[in-house]
Amino acid sequence: MKKYNFNAGPSMLPREVIENTAKQILDFNGSGLSLMEISHRAKDFQPVVDETVALIKELLDIPEGYSVIFLGGGASLQFMQIPANFLIKKAGYVNTGTWAKKAMKEAKHFGETIEVASSADDNYCHLPKDFTIPADLDYLHITTNNTIFGTELRKDIDSPVPLIADMSSDILSRPVDVSKYDAIYAGCQKNMGMAGVTCVILKNDKLGRAPRELPTMIDYNTHVSKGSMFNTPPVVPIYSVLETMRWVKAHGGVKEMDKRAQERARIVYDEIDRNKLFKGTVAVEDRSVMNLCFVMNEEYKDLEKPFLDFATERGMVGIKGHRSVGGFRASCYNAQTLEGVNALVQCMKDFEAQH
Ligand code: PMP
Repeated sequence: MKKYNFNAGPSMLPREVIENTAKQILDFNGSGLSLMEISHRAKDFQPVVDETVALIKELLDIPEGYSVIFLGGGASLQFMQIPANFLIKKAGYVNTGTWAKKAMKEAKHFGETIEVASSADDNYCHLPKDFTIPADLDYLHITTNNTIFGTELRKDIDSPVPLIADMSSDILSRPVDVSKYDAIYAGCQKNMGMAGVTCVILKNDKLGRAPRELPTMIDYNTHVSKGSMFNTPPVVPIYSVLETMRWVKAHGGVKEMDKRAQERARIVYDEIDRNKLFKGTVAVEDRSVMNLCFVMNEEYKDLEKPFLDFATERGMVGIKGHRSVGGFRASCYNAQTLEGVNALVQCMKDFEAQH
């Protein structure tokens, strides 16, 4: 049976990305060696990193003066690496959910860290609005898409202080004005490729100002100056990012990704709003187009498990909601298809017809 992958990450990738990466794992560039067996210093691998960086710069229209690097440790390591490098006296965080909170927790190891705004009191079902950003912050940290709660800030805000963003779950799904940010980071395992590598975009002239001795591996300059090759980088995951970037480009770039994401989300949210069994969990204006969260309406609460079983039998994978929200979450990253969302919607309609 055909499977429709709605996993929240690691998540669905374009079939050709998987196939092309698999081919290189078997025989890298006709060398007779696997991509898994070569040195990252092999002459054929440098072009992989170079092309990947060039494509990310092109697709996101990254201005001069920024570096793109690949690191291990997941986006979670960035929760500490960002403040280690950028927190001088005081950092501000917008608390929009689990990941934002985790980022804030790590910053506290490095200096004064304040919560500038929060929607925790409403279980993060909307984004905080109308808050003032103190002018004395070294930076303001935001999480543009809240993977667990399904809210998303789909625009680049004006900030009087340097802006730093965790874009793990919506990078490359829309055009971004990178010039508004001093740093952007993303675990690659949603919109950029497979798990195992994190992409960090840094404004060069903001590096090297940390008021503390940084361990070599934590200092961004180490990795910027060595082009992500200071130590052995995750070779296969980086290759999967290259293939994903080629795919995004061949499919029309981030503008087209944006258009497709809006269309998929509209189809699913329209059904959530129409179907008597379900309701969305997020304030309509803050709904994510990447992670679409919904629950059973109160009077149909008992149907949660039966719907999950029904959908699973029809090939839906990964639609169980995160335990902090319950219900369902359909993650629709760049590789998600119209066929996939239409199959989910049909499933919701057919289940409704039975009740
Ligand atoms: N930030 C966001 C927005 C995420 O969705 C995730 C993981 N899903 C993380 C950070 C943590 O990423 P990692 O597992 O790569 O550390």
